[in-house]
Amino acid sequence: MTTANTCKQCGADLALARIEGMRGEEAGLSLSIEGMPAYSCVNGHKRFLTSDFPMRLIDSLAKADTPDLPVAQKKGMLKKRYLCPGCGGELASEPGTHATLERSLSLKDSAAFSATLAVPLYHCSACGVAAMRPGDELANALMKAAAQAFQSAGIPPG
Ligand SMILES: [Zn+2]
Ligand SMILES: [Zn+2]
Repeated sequence: MTTANTCKQCGADLALARIEGMRGEEAGLSLSIEGMPAYSCVNGHKRFLTSDFPMRLIDSLAKADTPDLPVAQKKGMLKKRYLCPGCGGELASEPGTHATLERSLSLKDSAAFSATLAVPLYHCSACGVAAMRPGDELANALMKAAAQAFQSAGIPPG
């Protein structure tokens, strides 16, 4: 019988730990998380503080998204195009720069930790506006980047 404080993989006692250097990247968006509190056993197995911790983490990152950056308009069904919110011109297909957002997070009364998001910006050659992709695409990329970050740290979901 395993309790909340026993490692599911090896049965050793779990202790609170901080996980450093988690990274993930998807569709030009990169995420790094430093010092995330989690449980760890002597054999290095890791576990989230609670099973909904990863969803809460992604949620609060998504909500913390920058409201003040211009957002591209998506056009087209088969071939997607992204238009400049300033002048309607077509945006570059590759990101030119990134907006770096740093967040300090504390979930479920956990110790605070930090996450850094680099959001790709696509430039308009006509008027110089640099816009982000629409929110649903960013949210999707964020989800995948976070999943990679957790995987890179060897922390199983849930
Ligand atoms: Zn273990
Ligand atoms: Zn423009």
